[in-house]
Amino acid sequence: MLSVSRCKVCGCTENTACITKNGACHWINNDEDICSACTPVVEFYPEMHFYQCSGCIVTFGVEAAFEDQTSVTCPICQEEDELVDAGFGFVTITKLPNDEDEE
Ligand SMILES: [Zn+2]
Ligand SMILES: [Zn+2]
Ligand SMILES: [Zn+2]
Repeated sequence: MLSVSRCKVCGCTENTACITKNGACHWINNDEDICSACTPVVEFYPEMHFYQCSGCIVTFGVEAAFEDQTSVTCPICQEEDELVDAGFGFVTITKLPNDEDEE
C-alpha cells in the first residue's frame, strides 16, 4: 500500500512539511493525519460534521465528536427529514486567537 500520510487540516505530507517555530512539523497522532503545526487549530476548532438542509438551503456543522449525530436537526426548521450528510471538514481560520503574546 502506497498511501502517503497527509495532514487532513493543511494537507502537508512528509515531503512538504510545514515550517513552524520549532522546525518542520511532525505527526501528532498515530493515524498520521494531523501535524504539529495544526494542533492549535484542531484544539480550537474541532473537526465538524456538516449537514445540509435541502428544505432551507442551509449548511451547518456539528462537532464530529458530538455523540448523538442521529438527533441532529436543522437549526432553522428543526426538522431532520431534509438533512443531507455533507461530510466532514474543518473550519478554516486565518489567525489563531492565542497567537498574540509572544514577546
Ligand atoms: Zn497540518
Ligand atoms: Zn504540517
Ligand atoms: Zn431546514
